[in-house]
Amino acid sequence: MEEKKTVLIVEDEKSIVDIVRFNLEKEGYAVLTAYDGEAGLAAAREGKPDLILLDVMLPKMIGFDVCRILRGEGDNVPVIILTAREEEADKVLGLEIGADDYITKPFSMRELMARVKANIRRTAMQQGSAAVPTAGGLTIDPENYQVSKHGKPIALTQREYELLSFLAGHPGKVYSRIDLMEQVWNYDYVGDDVRTVDVTVRRLREKIEDDPANPALILTRRGVGYYFSGQ
Ligand code: CA
Repeated sequence: MEEKKTVLIVEDEKSIVDIVRFNLEKEGYAVLTAYDGEAGLAAAREGKPDLILLDVMLPKMIGFDVCRILRGEGDNVPVIILTAREEEADKVLGLEIGADDYITKPFSMRELMARVKANIRRTAMQQGSAAVPTAGGLTIDPENYQVSKHGKPIALTQREYELLSFLAGHPGKVYSRIDLMEQVWNYDYVGDDVRTVDVTVRRLREKIEDDPANPALILTRRGVGYYFSGQ
């Protein structure tokens, strides 16, 4: 029997916390809750959740700061930002500071549960695989979700890791943003969300490329998509 995955909900609207908690528990998750940013940060540090649902507008500390601080501490827990529909800029900002995904309020429980499932670390799939050198001095270790360049570890979020590992697993093959949403994000629908792919690629390049403006590893095929250079 697999150990229960733990989801931390950081949200100041008690009615949202209650309904989300109810649904997560029904799906077999253990749930931690926090009603302001500082308490959320503390719960993330102490509770070591497998995923965080993080509201943006929170008392004491906004959600972006919670995420930024956790990433600064090297915590790569998957983070889904909860934003209000009109806060379009929040989505991009959230991804820029290292969130893995966002969902707009009001959301359906079905969609939220699908996102949680898609974003939670899929450890079972990863067992028994060994570190593989790829290209440009890059090494990917699927067992520990660890990437290093010329022996130096690079801190990636789970989604950045999965995108890199997917592209590097198929060197030279070009994937459209929609392909990547389906293959890496596990979404069976796409809308405006394809720009999530662009933001994640940009962040990944900043971490792994010698010169992010002239990438040598993750390349763009203009008008088609992205691919990993096998060279
Ligand atoms: Ca709020």
